[in-house]
Amino acid sequence: MALHDHQLHEGDSLRVAAREQLVARGEQWTGMREAVFDALAGFTQPASAYDIAEAVSKAQGRRVAANSVYRILDLFVGSNLARRVESANAYVANAHPDCLHDCIFLICDNCGQTVHLDDDKLSGGVREAAASAGFTAPRPVIEVRGTCGDCDGE
Ligand SMILES: [Zn+2]
Ligand SMILES: [Zn+2]
Ligand SMILES: [Zn+2]
Repeated sequence: MALHDHQLHEGDSLRVAAREQLVARGEQWTGMREAVFDALAGFTQPASAYDIAEAVSKAQGRRVAANSVYRILDLFVGSNLARRVESANAYVANAHPDCLHDCIFLICDNCGQTVHLDDDKLSGGVREAAASAGFTAPRPVIEVRGTCGDCDGE
């Protein structure tokens, strides 16, 4: 792991870290953005923009369009507040909005449970291999599908 105090946040601490990160990037932490972040962080599995729009609509008692949620998710991904799980076509809140890593995801084929790992040595190797093959700005997407420990025992 890189030489820093790698901290995984949850609950209120995660919301505070996310807000600080967004504000540090010159963006506003609006009520709508907070609602989307809270909804995203409330999911235990990767959530689509539609899932999140539904959760926010319920929480706010008014219809929120998936399109506006999608734009906010885009901003969150660009600001390190959320990550896209490509193979699930969905989003997760990033537990470390304050530091940047090539996050690795393990996704259970049975229940959808997703585990977030950070191993800069592993992703760095992929990054280096891509760079030496002439790829510029390589962005490793490392996702592992399998059966989680909970499902394996059933
Ligand atoms: Zn870190
Ligand atoms: Zn990560
Ligand atoms: Zn499972």
